Amino acid sequence: MNNLHGTNLVFLIALVIYVAIRKHFMTGLQYAETEVDAIDQKDRLLIGAVALTVIVLPVLYLLTPLFSFADYEVSRNLRLVGAVVIAFSLVLFWRSHVDLGINWSPSLEIRRDHALINEGVYARMRHPMYASIWLWCLGQGLMLPNWLIAWAPLFFFSLMYISRVRREEELMRERFGAAYDRYIEATGRIFPKAKK
Ligand code: SAH
Repeated sequence: MNNLHGTNLVFLIALVIYVAIRKHFMTGLQYAETEVDAIDQKDRLLIGAVALTVIVLPVLYLLTPLFSFADYEVSRNLRLVGAVVIAFSLVLFWRSHVDLGINWSPSLEIRRDHALINEGVYARMRHPMYASIWLWCLGQGLMLPNWLIAWAPLFFFSLMYISRVRREEELMRERFGAAYDRYIEATGRIFPKAKK
C-alpha cells in the first residue's frame, strides 16, 4: 500500500513542479561564470540534509509504507491549508528564480557579471527564495502527518538559514558596498518591508 491519495497526491505533484523549477533554472546556469565561491563543508552538508528531507524522504513516505509507524492524524482542513501554503511557496520560488536570473546559485557565489537585483520580488524583501523555502517547510509540515517526515525540513532549513543569511549579506555588501546598504534600508529579510 502506498499513501498516494487525496492531498498526498497534490503534495507529490507540487514536489515534481518544485524539482522541475530548480532543474530548469540550473540548466540556465551552464555558462554563468563564478568569481567568488564561498561554499564550505557545512553548507554542503546542510544542502544535502535539506534535499534529503524535502525530496527523498517525502517520496519514500508517499510511495512506500516504510515510515507508517510514525504517522499521526491531521484534519483534512489543515492539510488543505498546507496545500495553499505550498502553492504560494511554488509561485514565490518560481518568481524569485525568474527575477534573480543568472545571479542565482545553489550556495554562496558571486558571478563574474553579478548584478544587484532589487526589483520584482526582490524590491521589498532580500530573501524571497528563502522565504519560499520556509513556506514549503511549513506546508510540508501541515500536509504530511508523520513525525519523521513533516518537520525534519523545518529543522534542517532553520540551521541552513541561520548559518547562511548573514554570510550571504556580508558577501553582497563586500561586492556592492553602499548600494547594498541602501538596499538593506529598503527591504526586509523574509518579510516584505512596507513602502515609505
Ligand atoms: N537569498 C536570496 C538568493 C538565494 S540564491 C533569496 O532568498 O532570494 C543565493 C545567491 O544569490 C547568493 O550567492 C548571492 O550571491 C545571490 N544574491 C542574493 N541576493 C541577491 C540580490 N539581491 N541580487 C543579486 N544576487 C543576489
